[in-house]
Amino acid sequence: MTLTSPVIVVIEDDPAIRLFLRTSLGAHGFKVFEADRGQQGIVEAGIRKPDLIILDLGLPDMEGVDVIKAIREWSVVPIIILSARSTEQHKVEALDAGADDYLTKPFGLGELLARIRVELRHSVSSPLQDQKGIFTTGMLKVDLLNRRVFVDDKEVHLTPIQYRLFSVLVKNAGKVLTHQYLLKEAWGPSYKDNSHYLRIYMSQLRHKLEEDPTQPQYLLTESGVGYRLKV
Ligand code: CA
Repeated sequence: MTLTSPVIVVIEDDPAIRLFLRTSLGAHGFKVFEADRGQQGIVEAGIRKPDLIILDLGLPDMEGVDVIKAIREWSVVPIIILSARSTEQHKVEALDAGADDYLTKPFGLGELLARIRVELRHSVSSPLQDQKGIFTTGMLKVDLLNRRVFVDDKEVHLTPIQYRLFSVLVKNAGKVLTHQYLLKEAWGPSYKDNSHYLRIYMSQLRHKLEEDPTQPQYLLTESGVGYRLKV
């Protein structure tokens, strides 16, 4: 551990999970601070100035969603939810409240570390692009300044709405975006219940951008919740 180790605040009432996170994240170079109550977590988030927060939703003193809302009043620190609650309603609620990602217990350490890396990468250079505004993930390349999309260096033409939807995913690459959020950003606030638009346009994007649209490698479905562009 060095002075520059990324700081993570874990807000979780289960001591076994806290121990696991402290040990395993510590071994991967993170400095971990813990809180077993929501209120204490909000205070820790203020004092420790963490690079990232891992938050459980079921806490003894308050709902995790209210912890997110409290922290979001003054901070954009990435928040990853780690919860046994796996219903889409809980995920959507947490993501809409301002969480950046959601992992269901039981979880794999490898996946948690990967999602932490994505969030930390975002927070230093958000959105994920170089100085010329070029975003790259695998075979996909997007020139955000000139609105051009390439697959394996061949340009692909998108319609204006396809591009708008895709660019929302690109600007939030790696993050789970809810159906409502995508509809609101790509079509506008009055379209947030038109989820069939999203299905149609995501399918069009997959046909244009994925090698095998039935086995997408980039435009991933987060079942019942929304979509995520893999980075
Ligand atoms: Ca709990």
